Amino acid sequence: MKHTKVKDLLNSTTTLQEVNAKGWVRTFRNNQFIALNDGSTINNIQCVVDFENTPEETLKRITTGAAVSVIGTLVESKGAGQKYEIQVNKLEILGDSDAEKFPMQPKKHSLEFLRENAHLRVRTNAFGAIMRVRSVLSFAVHKYFQEKGFVYVNTPIITGADAEGAGEMFQVTSLPLDNLPKTEEGEIDFKKDFFGKHTNLTVSGQLEGETFAMALGQIYTFGPTFRAENSNTSRHLAEFWMIEPEVAFNDLDDNMDLAEDFIQYVIKYALDNCKDDLAFLEGRLLEEEKSKPQADRSEMALLEKLNFVLENNFKRVSYTEAIDILRDSTPNKKKKFSYLINEWGADLQSEHERYLVEKHFKCPVILYDYPANIKAFYMRLNDNTEPGKETVRAMDILFPGIGEIVGGSEREERYDVLIEKMKALEIDEEELSWYLDTRRFGSATHAGFGLGFERLVLFVTGMTNIRDVIPFPRTPGSAEF
Ligand code: ATP
Ligand code: MN
Repeated sequence: MKHTKVKDLLNSTTTLQEVNAKGWVRTFRNNQFIALNDGSTINNIQCVVDFENTPEETLKRITTGAAVSVIGTLVESKGAGQKYEIQVNKLEILGDSDAEKFPMQPKKHSLEFLRENAHLRVRTNAFGAIMRVRSVLSFAVHKYFQEKGFVYVNTPIITGADAEGAGEMFQVTSLPLDNLPKTEEGEIDFKKDFFGKHTNLTVSGQLEGETFAMALGQIYTFGPTFRAENSNTSRHLAEFWMIEPEVAFNDLDDNMDLAEDFIQYVIKYALDNCKDDLAFLEGRLLEEEKSKPQADRSEMALLEKLNFVLENNFKRVSYTEAIDILRDSTPNKKKKFSYLINEWGADLQSEHERYLVEKHFKCPVILYDYPANIKAFYMRLNDNTEPGKETVRAMDILFPGIGEIVGGSEREERYDVLIEKMKALEIDEEELSWYLDTRRFGSATHAGFGLGFERLVLFVTGMTNIRDVIPFPRTPGSAEF
C-alpha cells in the first residue's frame, strides 16, 4: 500500500477508509496518542493506537524519534487542534529510537545545543520550518528571474581570478603541504599544482557573470560562495549562498528597482506559500523575545514585519546624506558608537547601518553613491564629482535586524577609467584580461548586485544567528558534518 503524506492527510476533504502514514514519532501520550511528523508540514497527525489490542512490546517501542508506519482510518478528530486523526489498525515500527539516547527530546533545547546536533536539529519544529522556508525561498528566487527571462548561469566555484576583491579567499591546491615544490626564487611553484596555477574558492561570481550579461542580457547566479574572513559574527559564514543578477543596459536606478522588486517578490512568495511555518516561527520569536528586556524586543511581530517590507518602498539615501544623519545622531554625539563618524569618507560599520535602518528611518534603506576609495575597483565613477570627493555608483541595501543584505553597483563600463583604477590599486591587468575584454568589445552600461541568501532567510524566518538558517554551517573553527 502506498503511503500518503501527513500534509495531504491533514488537508483531506473527507474521511477515508484506509490510509497509510509513515513518519517519525514526536511524542507518545497516554500509551495511546502518537504525534506523527513526516516533514511535509510543521503539523503532526494524531494517530490513535488501540492500546488494548497492541502488544506491550510494540507500545514500548513507540518512542520519540522512532520511525513508524501506521495503517488505519482517517476519521474526524474529537480532540481540539486538528480536523482529522488516524484510528490505527496496524502499526509497524520501522526504526527504533532509544529514548534514553535520542538527543531531540520533546522539550526546549538551546540553539547552541541544536547547532552541535545539526544532523538531528532538522527534526525539531523550528528547524523543520526554517529549512522548508529556505527551500521555498530558493524556488522563489529562480521563479522570479526565470519569469523575467533571466538566464541562470553557473559561475565557477574554483576560480583562477585572485582579484575578485570581495573578501579573503580559501586557496585550492593538490600540492603536498608538507613538501611544496619551490621555484628557483624559493617561492611555491604553482605551475606544478593541479591547474598549473594558483587557484581559490570563489568569493563572488560577479566578474564571470558580467561576461555573460554582456552576451545574454540578463543573467543571475545562485550558488555557494566562500570567504575566509575571520569574522565570527551572527551574520557571516565562511560558506554561504549568493544570488547575483547582472543586467546589460541597467544603470544604478534600474539596479535599485530590480533589487527592491526581487526582494519583495520572494518575501511575498514565502508569505503565500509558507503560512503554517511562518506562523510557527512568529510564535517562536515572540516566545524568545519574552526573555529579553522590552527595549531589545522587535517592535513588530514577524508577519507584520514581512508585510511592512512589502507595503513600503525602501528609502533611498545617498552616502553623503547618511553621513550627515550619523554625524548629528545622538549615539555619535554621546560617543556611543564604537567608531565615531567625524568626516565624509568614513566606512560605515554595522552599528551605523543598523542605526540608520532601525532607529532613524525604521524601514529598509538603500544607501548609494559611496566614496570611491572604500568600494571595489569595478564600480562606476560618478561624473561631476569634486576631486578628493569622488563617489561611485554603488548601493547597499540595509535591513532591520540584519544590516547589509545586498551589495551592488553600476559597473565601470569605460575601459580607460577602469584601467586607471586598476593601476592605482595595483590589480593585475594581465590576469583580468578576460574581464577587460567586456570593456574592449561592445562595452555598455550594466549593473548588478549580490544578495546573501542566508541573510534573506534570517530576515524571513526571524532567526537571529546565520548559523541557524543553513543546514550545516561553516564558520571559523567549525566545519562539522
Ligand atoms: P559585510 O560588510 O556584511 O561583510 P560585504 O560588504 O562583504 O558584507 P559583499 O561582498 O557586497 O558583502 O557581498 C554581497 C552580499 O553577500 C552581502 O550584502 C551579504 O548579504 C552577503 N555576504 C557577504 N559576506 C557574507 C558572509 N560572510 N556570510 C554570509 N553572507 C555574506
Ligand atoms: Mn564582508
